[in-house]
Order: sequence, then C-alpha cells, then structure tokens
Amino acid sequence: MGYIVGLTGGIGSGKSTVAALFSQLGVPVVDADIVAREVVEVGSPLLADIVDYFGEEILLDNGALNRSLLRERIFACEQDKHWLNQLLHPAIRQAMLAQLEQQQYPYVLWVVPLLIENNLTGYCDRLLVVDVEPQTQLQRASQRDNNDMALIKNIMSSQVSREARLVQADDVIFNEANLSENSENMWQQVQQLHQLYLTLAKQKEE
Ligand code: ATP
Repeated sequence: MGYIVGLTGGIGSGKSTVAALFSQLGVPVVDADIVAREVVEVGSPLLADIVDYFGEEILLDNGALNRSLLRERIFACEQDKHWLNQLLHPAIRQAMLAQLEQQQYPYVLWVVPLLIENNLTGYCDRLLVVDVEPQTQLQRASQRDNNDMALIKNIMSSQVSREARLVQADDVIFNEANLSENSENMWQQVQQLHQLYLTLAKQKEE
C-alpha cells in the first residue's frame, strides 16, 4: 500500500471542496461517498438486498436508490441503521481498500466523513482534518441539502466531536472564511500540504 492521507471533517465542513483542490493538482482521490454509491448501483446485489428489506419505495422512479429517503429512515430507526451498516460497511471498506491499492501516484487522498468514527485511521499515514465552526457547518450543509436543519443537527450529533477530531489531526485546514474571498489563501495551504505529502511519501518509500 502506498502513502495514504486520510481527509475527514464533519458534515458540511468542506471535505469535497478541499479534495477537489488536491485533485486539480493531480492527486488521486478515493472518496467514501462515491464508493458508497458505486456499491449500490442499479443492478448490484446490495441494492437488491436493500429493496428486500425496505421495500420498493426506497427506489426512485428511475430504479436508483433514494439516498435521502434511506438516510431519513435510518436516522429514525436504530435497528434499520444497524442492518444497513452491517450490509454496507464491509463492502464499502473492501472496495475502498482495493481502490487505494490501485493508485500509482506518490500518495492518495482518502476522503471519509466517518474516518475516525469507523476506526479507519489505522490505514492512514497522515490525517488531514477540515475544520469549521459548528454554526457554519449547519448553515452550509442545510443550504446545500434543502434547509433540513433538524436532520443536519441530528447527523452532527451522531458524528465525533470537533475536539476529538482535532486531537487526532496531523494537519488542519480551517475552512471558515468564505471561499469567494479566500481562495488564494486556501490554494496556498493546499499546495504547502501537497509538497509536504510528496516529501513524506518519498521518505516512507526509502
Ligand atoms: P458532506 O460531509 O456533507 O458531504 P463536505 O465536508 O464534503 O460535506 P462540502 O460539500 O465541500 O463539504 O461543502 C459544503 C457546502 O459548503 C458546499 O455547498 C460547498 O460549496 C460550501 N462550501 C465549502 N467550503 C466553503 C467556503 N470556504 N466558503 C463558502 N462555501 C463553502
């Protein structure tokens, strides 16, 4: 396995935004959210299992999984959440590790919202945390997801605390400032970290 930089942060903190900048520098990104979608694609055995359990209403008209409905269902029912996690977690983990292994670049950015919660830090050589004030998280995530503040709050409280995340971080990007006024500064931070990760990856190889 090559050098793995784990990237995590709470809901709406800016993980995807930061990952996109690394990607523009040519860094391969393995994104848990994308892998989680791939394993339940139309026609996949896991999607059939989900329909067996939750019924046809868990599908959109086009046959794809209705992810926001599924999210609501599992946040409302601990047992359903447990069932789904037992089904998906091993499959997602296996698919992510396979993708991490395939990369040829000096390092890979592994974006996982629940990296700490799911005990995946052991796979990482370095941990990068994207951090914002909880109020900003709530505001950005609810703006993006149709203003469902209660659901976002619920998700936030199910995630590890900001403090616990920061304690584990090797590097932190503070993403509070509005990107439209702060993109230069953000780019500088990403480029500095990129140089650092290239150096550390090389050291690991030697
Ligand atoms: P999730 O865990 O919910 O998938 P995330 O951590 O990947 O979220 P993003 O999707 O990158 O977070 O950001 C959340 C929202 O906030 C997006 O709509 C994004 O465009 C916006 N956003 C992120 N960073 C900033 C910023 N610095 N200034 C303004 N808007 C931002």
